[in-house]
Order: sequence, then structure tokens, then C-alpha cells
Amino acid sequence: MDNASDAAIAVVGGGVSGTGVAATLRDTAVEVTLFERAGRVGGRTATRTRNGAVYDYGANYVKNDDERVADLLTSEVSEGLVDIDEPVWTFDADGEISEGRDADDAKWTFESGIETLAGRLADRSDAAVETGAEVVGLARETDEWHVATADGREFGPFDGVVLTPPAPQTGDLLAAADWDHEQSGALVEALRDVPYRTIWSLALSYTFDLDVPYYALVNTDGDHEIGWLSREACKPGHVPDGDLLIVQMAPDWSAERYDADGEAVIEEALPLVADLLDDRLADPEWADHQRWGLALPDDGVDTDLLDAVAEDGLWFAGDWVAGEARAHAALGTGLAAGDRIRERFE
Ligand SMILES: Cc1cc2nc3c(=O)[nH]c(=O)nc-3n(C[C@H](O)[C@H](O)[C@H](O)COP(=O)(O)OP(=O)(O)OC[C@H]3O[C@@H](n4cnc5c(N)ncnc54)[C@H](O)[C@@H]3O)c2cc1C
Repeated sequence: MDNASDAAIAVVGGGVSGTGVAATLRDTAVEVTLFERAGRVGGRTATRTRNGAVYDYGANYVKNDDERVADLLTSEVSEGLVDIDEPVWTFDADGEISEGRDADDAKWTFESGIETLAGRLADRSDAAVETGAEVVGLARETDEWHVATADGREFGPFDGVVLTPPAPQTGDLLAAADWDHEQSGALVEALRDVPYRTIWSLALSYTFDLDVPYYALVNTDGDHEIGWLSREACKPGHVPDGDLLIVQMAPDWSAERYDADGEAVIEEALPLVADLLDDRLADPEWADHQRWGLALPDDGVDTDLLDAVAEDGLWFAGDWVAGEARAHAALGTGLAAGDRIRERFE
């Protein structure tokens, strides 16, 4: 591209990876339009509020395992950033709880919830953010990309597209795209093949405090019906009174109930929670639920395949690009994709 000011990029997906791409391209000559299917950005870093409580029902916290991401969180987007002091303990198939294995130096979220991160990144960018805009069509004509959304709108031309939905959804978008590359078939197959874990995530609110010394319990042998249980009350600003548990059911248990009604899932899970921790937990004040069908990728995609199509102005970001199902890893790939695009067009 001769004239850098003409460069325009479409980012599909407004999770931390997509908003990370947009934030990296701030103050550059690259114009970004970000398309997010949902009504707001955040993706799997997701927060709800109810009865004065704030709760993170997807990702629980962000780790400081990536130096660049940690620097970003503690400087440019740090307002309201909180670190969870209490540790993560473990439990086994028999419900035996043990101290230890809190391997994370930092466990970051925000007073206003983890979703704040993507919102801040989007706000920091110069991107035009289209929420409620599901991308359903991609077409490449004479070196330019065109994007169609489910509500019948057409956008473009763009010099490049960054795809950040979970790998199988990205594969479906490319399979339907009007685009041809010698690697396109192999790429679509690889994307659709990435295995994902399903997780039913439950939020259970109680009027009383749970008097325990830990923030969370993780099942380490993978043989319990519950995979993870944590206390939002340990996050400053989240729970004004009592406690609010986030319970993530084990992937196999969740997959077996993929089509179940959320209320029925809660009813089935409550005795398991009570049995693990405290009989009083069988009777929450209120409860909420979310099924994450594509919760956590168990694998990545051969990066050579991803790199091969960059010549056509196609880039990727997301936890599956990193091969690590973590928010900091997803954001790291977004920042890296932004760098590559900046290098290409400046
Ligand atoms: C239950 C659960 C617990 C987790 N716990 C943790 C944790 O404690 N710590 C941690 O670090 N990570 C955790 N994770 C993982 C973490 O949430 C993800 O790794 C990270 O959020 C992925 O970000 P992303 O931007 O790659 O993808 P996403 O957040 O999935 O973003 C992709 C976005 O693309 C949008 N989209 C999809 N298709 C389209 C389309 N066609 N058009 C427009 N938009 C589209 C989606 O709506 C979504 O907003 C957890 C995840 C889950 C589900």
C-alpha cells in the first residue's frame, strides 16, 4: 500500500483479542472497524450485575504471565483493577479439599467486572465499533475485502481482515467466504478440528458469608462433577453483602447436559455444591446460569497455515491462536496481530 492513510482493517469479534488488535492500531494510519455479534464487547471475559452484585461468569481473572499484557493492565487500563488476595485451593473426586497450588502471582479483574477490560481497550482505540453486528459474509475481490453482516449491511472495502471468533466459528466463516487461496481448504479443516470444552457456569447468591480461607477451589483430578468454584466476594466491589459463588461444572458433565434447561442444570448442581462445601448452599437466594458451548480450546492451529494467508490480508487472534485457553494469552495475540498489521501498512 503506497498511501498508509488509505489502509482500512476489519476486525471480527470484540473479545479481548479483537479489542486488543484495535487498541494496538490506535494513533496509526490504519482505520479499524470492529464487528461484534453481541450487544457489547467482552466475549468470554463476561460480567453481569444483579441485585447490586457484579459477577464474572466467564473468565474469572487475568493472570500476569505475559509481560506486555501485564504492563498494559497496570498502566493504560488500570483504573479499578483489583487483585484477588485469597488463594486457590484444590479438591479431588471425593470432595477432599487441600491447601495449595495457587500458582498465579496476580489474579486480576476490575471492580466493575472483567468485561471492563475489553470495553477499555475498545474505548482506547480509534476503531468504529459495530455492536450487534454479526459478520456472515466475507468476500475478497481485487485485493480488497468486503464484509456483510446478518442485518443485511455491507462494509468495505478493507485492506485486511482479522478473525477472532473461536476456531470452529472462524472456520465456518472462511468456508462460506468468497475467497480462494491454495491453503484455504487445509486452513478451514484445521480450524474446524480444534477441540473445545463445554462448560455450564452457574452463579449462586447467598445472604451469608462463607467463612473459608480461599478464593476458589479447583478440581485437580478431573473426576468431580464440579470443575471450579469461586467466591466473587473476594473481588473488591463485587458483592455488597453475603457471598456469590461461581460454579463451573466439569466439561464432560456439562457436555452431557448441553441441551438441558438452565434451571434444571442448577437444580442438579445444587446438591453437589452443598455436598462439597456446606449444606446451606443447597438453597441460594437467587441463581443464574450460562452455557459456554465453545468455552476453552484444547489445542491450537499450525501457525504456518495462519501465516500463509497473511499475504491475502488475513490475520487471526484469539486464545486458540496462542494455543492457551487464557484471557492474557488471547489479548497477547491481539497485540501481536496489531503489530504485524501496523508493520504491513506503515
Ligand atoms: C467459563 C470460562 C472460564 C474461564 N476462566 C478463565 C480464567 O479464569 N482465566 C483466564 O485467563 N481465562 C479464562 N477463560 C478463557 C478466556 O475467557 C478466553 O481465553 C478469552 O476470553 C478469549 O478471548 P478471545 O478474544 O480470544 O475470544 P472471545 O472472548 O470468544 O471473543 C470472540 C468474540 O467474537 C464474537 N463473534 C463470534 N462470531 C462472530 C461473528 N460472526 N461476527 C461478529 N462477532 C463474532 C463473539 O461474540 C465474541 O465476543 C475462561 C473461559 C470460560 C468460558
